[in-house]
Amino acid sequence: MPNTDPVAALCRDRDLPDESLFALLATDRYDTALFSAADRVRRQVYGDEVYIRGLIEISNYCKNDCYYCGIRKSNRNATRYRLSEKEILACCDTGYALGFRTFVLQGGEDPWFTDERVCHIVSEIRRRFPDCAITLSLGEKPAESYRAYFEAGANRYLLRHETADETHYRKLHPDSMSLRHRKDCLFALKRIGYQVGSGFMVGSPYQKTEHLIADLRFLQELQPDMIGIGPFLTHADTPFADFPNGSLPLTLRLVAILRLLFPTALIPSTTALGTIHPQGREMGLKAGANVVMPNLSPVGVRRLYTLYDNKICTDEEAAESRARLEKRVADAGYRIVTAVGDRKKEGDRL
Ligand code: SAH
Repeated sequence: MPNTDPVAALCRDRDLPDESLFALLATDRYDTALFSAADRVRRQVYGDEVYIRGLIEISNYCKNDCYYCGIRKSNRNATRYRLSEKEILACCDTGYALGFRTFVLQGGEDPWFTDERVCHIVSEIRRRFPDCAITLSLGEKPAESYRAYFEAGANRYLLRHETADETHYRKLHPDSMSLRHRKDCLFALKRIGYQVGSGFMVGSPYQKTEHLIADLRFLQELQPDMIGIGPFLTHADTPFADFPNGSLPLTLRLVAILRLLFPTALIPSTTALGTIHPQGREMGLKAGANVVMPNLSPVGVRRLYTLYDNKICTDEEAAESRARLEKRVADAGYRIVTAVGDRKKEGDRL
């Protein structure tokens, strides 16, 4: 490898050859420089602002069987639930009063939520909260469904590609699913006009460094507005029960690399980061993340939306967790704001 500093090159070029990415990912020797460069860039674009998104987990029924996920259809130990429209709207009411201006409706791929039902819920949220962004994270759907939700008032969609390597994708998913289809969904969402979020798990079973580089390259091709990553976390009732959790330092390193590759992207410091380490979300913010997604689901169902074991914040009221988060974010050196929190455009520097 040429004798240059990969962090300086990444800052300068907003890109890096594969061999330098390998070098950055392989050791902790660049971490201090990497995290401070990422924080500098995030402050140039977003200042100390942290956007909050209210996450509403609308259903843990799922027709898919992803090997890593605790709500996969074959998990007979999962107690299933779905929220009614009334319950979802009540979560939005609570969230709005707490300063949330984005609601994220996430769930398993639950056939009960037909397009008609999703559109009804979305248009009702749109009518009641015209100043809020509505984000959906409901998995893979036909383009016509995505279009119908968009027309009903949804404006953002989160769909992680999970891994951009075909062979690796096959090791994480049953044959009924395909990477090609997932990517097609992402491009369809973009074409329709959504602000699109994608991302991947770090340290999922069988993952190699070259797969992570493929993830970064795919994101460069997609150019998403939001990029969510988190460590893979084991769930005891899945085929991956015996695999170890992903690595915290590697996840943080990737957050920082993402910030430098995509200076204006919205990058959440995810619940999975907060689960793997008590200070994980603060560490994510310091490594370049600028979004947090507190849980607004009714406390009674939170324990049931278990994608992985030991998920945090399952027994806290929304108001309580909002207040605690405010302080934690402030202690980390940032500031939660009440804002819809769209992505800043290149050139809108502070
Ligand atoms: N059904 C929706 C929402 C999935 S849950 C969809 O397909 O997009 C949201 C994210 O949680 C997933 O995209 C996945 O990256 C993550 N996730 C699922 N199981 C996980 C696990 N065991 N560890 C860490 N993250 C997990």
